[in-house]
Parts: sequence; structure tokens; C-alpha cells
Amino acid sequence: MKCPICGNENTGKLSKSRYFCSNCFVEIFYSRKDQLQLFRILEDGSAHPICVS
Ligand SMILES: [Zn+2]
Repeated sequence: MKCPICGNENTGKLSKSRYFCSNCFVEIFYSRKDQLQLFRILEDGSAHPICVS
């Protein structure tokens, strides 16, 4: 799974549909039908949605 933001190919797999890029601290979440959701993980552990494209 390649990070759509920074292109890092070494994203960590959290679960079947969730990946984490340790380069830009973004969680990549695939919902059904290839819908992509991105969440930026802040220092306090909270996740904030990111709009792509
Ligand atoms: Zn990234």
C-alpha cells in the first residue's frame, strides 16, 4: 500500500482496510468500493480527516 500523500511504499498495515504512513503520520482507510479516507494523526492521538484531490 503506497501512501497517496507522500508516496511512501512502506506503510504499516493496521488491519484489513487500514494502513498507516509513519512518514507523514496519516492513517489510510479503505471503505467499501475503493473509497479512500485519510486521517492525520496528531500528537495527542486524535485523528483529523483530510480531503484528498
Ligand atoms: Zn505518507
